[in-house]
Amino acid sequence: MPHTPENRPVSVRLLALCTLVGLLLATPALATGKAAGKAMKAAAPAPALVSIAIHGGAGTLSPAEMTPELAARYTAALEQARDVGYAILEKGGPALDAVEAAVRVLEDNELFNAGRGAVFDADGRNSLDASIMDGSTLAAGAITGVHHVRNPVTLARHVMENSPHVMLSGDGAEEFALEQGLKLEPASYFKTERRWKQFLDTRTAAIGPVANGDPRYFGTVGAVARDAAGHLAAATSTGGMTGKKWGRIGDSPIIGAGTYAEDGACAVSGTGHGEYFIRNVVGYQVCSLVKLKGVSVAEAARIVVQDKLKTQGGEGGIIAMGPNGDWALEFNSEGMYRAARDSSGRREVAIFR
Ligand code: ASP
Repeated sequence: MPHTPENRPVSVRLLALCTLVGLLLATPALATGKAAGKAMKAAAPAPALVSIAIHGGAGTLSPAEMTPELAARYTAALEQARDVGYAILEKGGPALDAVEAAVRVLEDNELFNAGRGAVFDADGRNSLDASIMDGSTLAAGAITGVHHVRNPVTLARHVMENSPHVMLSGDGAEEFALEQGLKLEPASYFKTERRWKQFLDTRTAAIGPVANGDPRYFGTVGAVARDAAGHLAAATSTGGMTGKKWGRIGDSPIIGAGTYAEDGACAVSGTGHGEYFIRNVVGYQVCSLVKLKGVSVAEAARIVVQDKLKTQGGEGGIIAMGPNGDWALEFNSEGMYRAARDSSGRREVAIFR
């Protein structure tokens, strides 16, 4: 006999009744008003905020030299790097992967002073520096003075993860890169005509040594991020200053100066006149203000970049990210290539003030 509603066996009807009563008791919306509200809140926690900020250096062209076409190219490149990093965070990936991926995009783009398109040192070579830091463990890796590593930030990560050291330099760092199976390139891969011309300019009396602080001869790229687990990370990569000599090293590969990340405090990547950033231990100082003084990331960034660096004549800027994914993009130079995005829908990209 078919089981129509009328002729269903008693046991089935009883089961259906019990299920209905159970549902009524368990459904918050049908229970008492107060309890219902509480149950609803507990059942739907807000998704963890993920957030990324990047920079392409404080060494910008002057607004007069920046054509609309060039500005559009910079803007598109910044958005691309930001969104590559953001996509990793959005899928639940770690902040460390996001900052490395974003920096790699900028290293591969010849517009920026890192990887391909880096400035030339006094010997006419591209000498690359990079670093990366994991805020959840305080693990860090850095490399300096390499000439052939396509993505210096990835080599820095390998130093962090696959060596007992924090910082490797020069030939030794390239030997390690080879052992790690990383991609090396001929010197010609990194050379661009624009940077070569800048290098030649610095050798004329008209421009003089680059230590005159002309921001066109600086530049760096970097990223900071907060992932869904609440971890922070930072990474920085640069060709340093045009015409640098004597094996000069700036702040970018120095943990605590150009790069720093510590969960619960902040993540920082800097760009600018590196000597000032080293002396002021900029990354660590910003995070210490947040952690020990309880000031906001924005205020800590302002204090260090404006009150300290600017007063001393140290031109540049930083990107900083706090434990909740709040970012600060602070600079005392004419501009800083920058972009940021978070999962609440906030997005920005800019070059000048
Ligand atoms: N901070 C880098 C350095 O001093 C340069 C820059 O960021 O513009 O090497």
